[in-house]
Amino acid sequence: MIDLRSDTVTKPTPEMRQAAFDAVVGDDVYQEDPTIIELEELSAQMLGKEAAMFVPSGTQGNQIAVLTHCQPGQEIILEADSHIFIYEGASISALAGVQPRTIAGKNGAMDPGEVQAAVRGDDIHLPETGLICLENTHNRAGGAVVSLDNMQAIFEMAQQQNIPVHLDGARLFNAAVATGIDVKEFAAYTDTVQFCLSKGLGAPVGSIIAGSTDFIKKARKWRKRLGGGLRQAGIIAAPGLVALRTMVDRLAEDHENAQLLADGLKEVSGLTIENNVDTNIVLVYTEDAGLRAEQFLEMLKESGILAVPFGPYTVRFVTHFDVSKEEIRSVIDRIGALAGANR
Ligand SMILES: *Cc1c(COP(=O)(O)O)cnc(C)c1O
Repeated sequence: MIDLRSDTVTKPTPEMRQAAFDAVVGDDVYQEDPTIIELEELSAQMLGKEAAMFVPSGTQGNQIAVLTHCQPGQEIILEADSHIFIYEGASISALAGVQPRTIAGKNGAMDPGEVQAAVRGDDIHLPETGLICLENTHNRAGGAVVSLDNMQAIFEMAQQQNIPVHLDGARLFNAAVATGIDVKEFAAYTDTVQFCLSKGLGAPVGSIIAGSTDFIKKARKWRKRLGGGLRQAGIIAAPGLVALRTMVDRLAEDHENAQLLADGLKEVSGLTIENNVDTNIVLVYTEDAGLRAEQFLEMLKESGILAVPFGPYTVRFVTHFDVSKEEIRSVIDRIGALAGANR
């Protein structure tokens, strides 16, 4: 099977497995795990933030950010197709007690004027705006990079109104590699950032949340409350260190492979590419081939290819470390053959 469902399916490299084996560990709830501390310090330094904290998943990292920044009864502004709004089981409401105020973005980017207009005024009837969330790269927009200018405009407006900005940067390193802009520069227009070690960077488990020292101190308490306080977690932090040290630059290969896949699939009759393919995600539209996404996925599976549905007629392919250029060429050939057979 050529598995293009997500970059989360990447398996740890031999170097990561060795690092896990060799990791010096301690009890991280007591903040005594040297490998966790090293990973948190490196992450904070790479993002240009005062402090960072390891969390078991990106979802937990985002939820800790919302819980730490907000009070129940507040409202948060976020993009209408964002991961926090769609894919986190409504935990902003179920756990943090905040309500969402969504703004439809363009290629994942919200218009700064619309964000400003959505900030609530000072009126006894209204909820308070407690947080603005950004997502970069934007998953449902097909791995779109949100520009630094867009982030800057929203952040500067938010600062004037004293509203914190959280970045769901699950794939922030993809944005950095695609643009040549350092993750620090993106992070500069945020108060807090979450990024995933377990996606394109290839580590088996974990995410990082970063921000001010005071924020991370409060976030640590929320992580404990959520049951995310881990003990000898250096075992899983060690592969994360390998990921940050060796797996960032190679994301460019995933981006080339996504481009190759998009270029190949757009030549297949009935298929169109929906997104700009800025990074490692390709969204394929199947309606003109007379196929619903689920039918197309069934055909793909029979020819040894896995992807995921992203709408009634949309299928998402994600390139990653465990899929080679040759395999991408083979995917294009196999789908080309399916299209011939389907006619
Ligand atoms: C994957 C992802 C997350 C969540 O990460 P998990 O580790 O799967 O919980 C959050 N935001 C975005 C944009 C993602 O793609």
